Amino acid sequence: MTENQSELTESKNLFSLKEVSREFGKRKLSFFKDNRILALNNVSLEINEMDAIGIVGESGSGKTTLGRILVGLDQPTKGEVLYKGRQIKSFNEKEKKWFHHQAQMIFQNPFASLNPYRSVLDILESGFKSVGKVDKKEVRKKIVDLLSEVGMHEDALNRYPHQFSGGQRQRLVIARALSVTPKILIADEPVSALDVSIQAQVLNLLNDLRKSLGLTIVFITHDLRVANFFCDRIAVMYKGRIVEIGDAKSVLANSQHPYTRMLLDAAPSGNPSGGSKSIINQDSEETLDDATAKGLGCNFADRCWLRKMLPDDSLCVGQAPTPRLLNGTNLVECHHSESIDRYIKVVTASDRGSNKNS
Ligand code: ADP
Ligand code: MG
Repeated sequence: MTENQSELTESKNLFSLKEVSREFGKRKLSFFKDNRILALNNVSLEINEMDAIGIVGESGSGKTTLGRILVGLDQPTKGEVLYKGRQIKSFNEKEKKWFHHQAQMIFQNPFASLNPYRSVLDILESGFKSVGKVDKKEVRKKIVDLLSEVGMHEDALNRYPHQFSGGQRQRLVIARALSVTPKILIADEPVSALDVSIQAQVLNLLNDLRKSLGLTIVFITHDLRVANFFCDRIAVMYKGRIVEIGDAKSVLANSQHPYTRMLLDAAPSGNPSGGSKSIINQDSEETLDDATAKGLGCNFADRCWLRKMLPDDSLCVGQAPTPRLLNGTNLVECHHSESIDRYIKVVTASDRGSNKNS
């Protein structure tokens, strides 16, 4: 490890994202054919050692892009990503390798994540070798220990990925990530491709490992309840922005953004309004005269149930909200959070009969 690196390891702050944007696609010459996508739109985020942070949002909200940028698989088109106080893009080759071991990403599909032509021993050996452990016997012992840590038996060593179930493969993927002794795991929907009956086992494993190894975890999921399973903090993403972030408990029980309420309402359980009757029409056909496209209004405005109930929505369509601290913990991008409880009560009491989702 270089002098720089040992200096860096003393810092409690791991990642610092400063106004990070990631745009995909090209600007077309015609005004009407601009198919650029802002997968991340000015995201700032701090991740400290031992954090377990959930990144939650529906498909397309930018969660995977955020994860890929964190581990350096993708680069922002704007903004800065710092790891232990230094810009990732400034790392030299040796530091890049070190950083690549520090931050490991686990992908959704364990079937695509493992090389089918390599045995488990082979796969895990290369992890240990890449961090410099070469004594074959010592490495083998470490691999057996690691397998047992992820709940697998030594007899897996000479088998190939296709010989394992989805849950076992995800355990192997986790083992491979751990073989380079990372500081932080970024788990991108790690259980959503697995049978429901297996999901809890893998979540428990991640939670146990996080505690026993002192890992920092970024847990990406579309399911708020899954995030709540072991995350201390939850960030809710919508169209490339973090629209609400705070203590997990507070984001779930006392969410201040109408989109978070919508996610909770869509969840089958654990929601005070009782998921059987949706209080919110998620399939709204309505589109605003796209103020959002001009960078003016709130980017959730066209789907926002709260906006539709307000006597005056001029702020929503005219001005992009900036983060405000509410409840003492939730950082929220909404002009009208203070009205959220008042209106949700009105809807649940009077709107059930007329809601087309009910
Ligand atoms: P999520 O993981 O929340 O589903 P993603 O980060 O995968 O969201 O994607 C966010 C947005 O960026 C989506 O609209 C997606 O289509 C777009 N996107 C992601 N990766 C690419 C890419 N490589 N090229 C073009 N568009 C992309
Ligand atoms: Mg994704």
